[in-house]
Amino acid sequence: DSADDLLRVAELVRSVPDYPQPGVLFRDITPVLAHGESFATVTTELAANAGEADLVVGVEARGFLLGAAVALVAGVGTVPVRKAGKLPAVAASRSYDLEYGSATLELPAGVVEPGTRVYVVDDVLATGGTAAAACALLADAGAEVVGFGTLLELAALNGRAKLGDLRIDALLNA
Ligand code: AMP
Repeated sequence: DSADDLLRVAELVRSVPDYPQPGVLFRDITPVLAHGESFATVTTELAANAGEADLVVGVEARGFLLGAAVALVAGVGTVPVRKAGKLPAVAASRSYDLEYGSATLELPAGVVEPGTRVYVVDDVLATGGTAAAACALLADAGAEVVGFGTLLELAALNGRAKLGDLRIDALLNA
């Protein structure tokens, strides 16, 4: 059943100490994506939560892989939110703090219409800065973020606090 499927997904998440910096326990979801049944499990579960959305946004880079699959299952399109400097034309840009370092995210120009209902997907919710920046970009574009879906929430980092009352769907907690 779905609980067993998620148990196997949890077993496939690889924890790597001190990556990319000392003190960070990196959660590598690559083995989940590489395992067909588990990839289908996480995609299907997240897509079920994306029901009311017109569009799925995936956050660079592992969020692209999950977001595109979720969008396909949900029957909607997908748009990448990218790290700074990768897009030829930018609709909006936001800088934010990470668990390690800082970063800027950009939304591509011309693909998100005002009023679009968007479901945002990323692999891991840590401090919430990335998700909050992605949501802020979409708000800048006049879109309505209807939820945030993630494979793994690191609850101790309290990323939820940065997302206000946004609905958060986390398949796993660590
Ligand atoms: P944050 O902005 O702190 O919520 O960080 C979330 C983003 O950074 C996601 O795109 C994750 O891929 C990545 N990330 C942050 N911390 C970790 C971690 N401990 N393990 C894996 N990915 C992480």
